[in-house]
Amino acid sequence: MANEKIDILVLEGDGIGPEITAATLAVLRATGAKFVLGLTFESAVVGWAAHKAVGTTFPDSVEVAAKAADGVLLGPVSHNDYPPREQGGLNPSGELRKRLDLYANIRPARSREGFPPRCGKPLDLVIVRENTEGFYADRNMHQGSGEFMPTPDLALAVRKVTRAGSTRIAEAAFKLAMQRRKHVTAVHKANVLRVSDGLYLECVRAVAARYSQVKYEERIIDAMAALLIRDARAFDVIVTTNMFGDILSDEASEIAGSLGLAASLNAGSHHAVAQAQHGSAPDIAGKNIANPASLIGSAAMLLAWLGERRGDGKLVRAGAAIEAALDRVIAKPDGRTPDLGGKLGTEAFGALVAKAVAEIKE
Ligand code: NAD
Repeated sequence: MANEKIDILVLEGDGIGPEITAATLAVLRATGAKFVLGLTFESAVVGWAAHKAVGTTFPDSVEVAAKAADGVLLGPVSHNDYPPREQGGLNPSGELRKRLDLYANIRPARSREGFPPRCGKPLDLVIVRENTEGFYADRNMHQGSGEFMPTPDLALAVRKVTRAGSTRIAEAAFKLAMQRRKHVTAVHKANVLRVSDGLYLECVRAVAARYSQVKYEERIIDAMAALLIRDARAFDVIVTTNMFGDILSDEASEIAGSLGLAASLNAGSHHAVAQAQHGSAPDIAGKNIANPASLIGSAAMLLAWLGERRGDGKLVRAGAAIEAALDRVIAKPDGRTPDLGGKLGTEAFGALVAKAVAEIKE
């Protein structure tokens, strides 16, 4: 299967999206050339630019293009500012997760050699976050919204937890743990959400029973938030429901150094979308100071995912080369963007990582 063409759909999004996407494409082009990957890039528009052009932030044609592509690179979007759904304000991120059934959001947090993590102690963990259920009102219903207002003074939100959803996210976590330090921590709030997180834990325990080589433990979400700060070295793979995973992963990435380092992959059985963990950072948009390492690292995860699916070691090595290049650049103080205390611009950082990829010895 090696040397096939690989079509990547590029959606640059809002805010810092266009800047960090351009830097990521520079790295992907250098990686594609070095490893002869046959990468091709096609762009489509989502977010405010799409709303302006066609009246919706997520045109249906994007779903078709995403399903046809081998992988998607998605920049962050400003969905908090979008108009209501009836006026074309769809969250492209949520729509892709739901329509492509991207049930696993894999969110690594790793301190980088040469760059001191906040809290002083190094960390290397992965949060495996359920991505299609939970409290996320835009994707947890077949029809309609998971949030509603029976009266003007009463707002309700539904939290969805299914046996199938909990079992498959647990499977993803244990499989990943087998490739790592063989340790899974399930995070929950079953002390209060006895029924919904009770079902979630029942499913994770059933999967854990099939992985006797993997150490399994459970933590309650509020304590977990503190334990991560106390000493994140205690964790390897953390599996949790949608909202807890969203919040914990930003915390873990910030401990590792910055949200600007926060890579992630949304993966399903057939599709994957590379997407930084953070949002569109409107406070720094257009200034060429955003750290693109998050989206560059996400693109590396996409290449590795494609490589594993296709049994193509070259793609796996290409993903690893991007990670090694990120390490090499960030290790030097003059290789850092302002969020890491440096002075480098977004574009210049991308160029340095692209150069480092080309220099990595295989
Ligand atoms: P944010 O993640 O955009 O920003 C939080 C803080 O982190 C800001 O100070 C920002 O400057 C900084 N930051 C984020 N990414 C950075 C990077 N690459 N380099 C350097 N600094 C970085 O969160 P927010 O401000 O709460 O949200 C802004 C918008 O993004 C909202 O509309 C929100 O709905 C949306 N959002 C989108 C996604 C997504 O596209 N997946 C995720 C979260 C939030």
